[in-house]
Amino acid sequence: MAECEVGLDARINALYDAETNAPLLNDAINVVVNTIQKDIVTHTLSRHLKAIMNSWIRTHSWYIDHKIRMSKFEHCLHNVVSREMRRHVIDLLKIRDKEYEYGLGSSVNEDDLALEVLRVSMSEFTSNYFWDINAKLTAEAERYRQSNGECLIDRDFEKTFSWFSKRTMSIHYRLPHVATIPKNVIPLEVLALDFKHDLKWECSICLELDSVNHVNLFTSHCVRTACKHIFHMACLYDCKRIYLQQKENHNKMCVPCPLCRAPIY
Ligand SMILES: [Zn+2]
Ligand SMILES: [Zn+2]
Repeated sequence: MAECEVGLDARINALYDAETNAPLLNDAINVVVNTIQKDIVTHTLSRHLKAIMNSWIRTHSWYIDHKIRMSKFEHCLHNVVSREMRRHVIDLLKIRDKEYEYGLGSSVNEDDLALEVLRVSMSEFTSNYFWDINAKLTAEAERYRQSNGECLIDRDFEKTFSWFSKRTMSIHYRLPHVATIPKNVIPLEVLALDFKHDLKWECSICLELDSVNHVNLFTSHCVRTACKHIFHMACLYDCKRIYLQQKENHNKMCVPCPLCRAPIY
């Protein structure tokens, strides 16, 4: 029994950690990190985390790297999100594998991984009730602080998180800088399985009509992009994977829509 469990875990872990899936995962992690940074209300963060953040601001060391504007906050958030996403996705894949044991669906593969990554990176992952972001982020920032020998002083605990901008000559209470994804990004909308397509709709990636007879849940799901184009989820993810794996696209966070070239995140 124990050996079998180890075998299953190793197979699912290997699927998650496979080099070829890295662009898909990085993409999802970046979107979640950016969404959280954009939406976070700094006064609701823990007192301890705010003290650490105040200390970074006060000592002019908010960024790890000024050039790419990677902040310590973003670095810690990225670590937490990467770990949490891994845990949630692997849990979901294990459930899927259990279903297979009972004769449902097929053995866990890359399509299942893409579906669960999408699920986990959608809205519920960015809201507080799905996982305790406050406690985990505080612990991560505290680890960072300690391992870099940064000290905390009492007065950093007393203030709400704030910083002074020389550009606007005013005090701000949000995060100083939120990276690269444009503010108006609209996430992919996963359509219900019984979604009624236009009569002449076909997926312009695989040129097939939607079919309710698909066995695999992933291939039968469709997604609608911000530019209002609808594709099979699996087809779009294949497109994304192939595009982002090309060397010249390694730094990109979005792919062009196969129909209209609008960015898809
Ligand atoms: Zn398709
Ligand atoms: Zn489009």
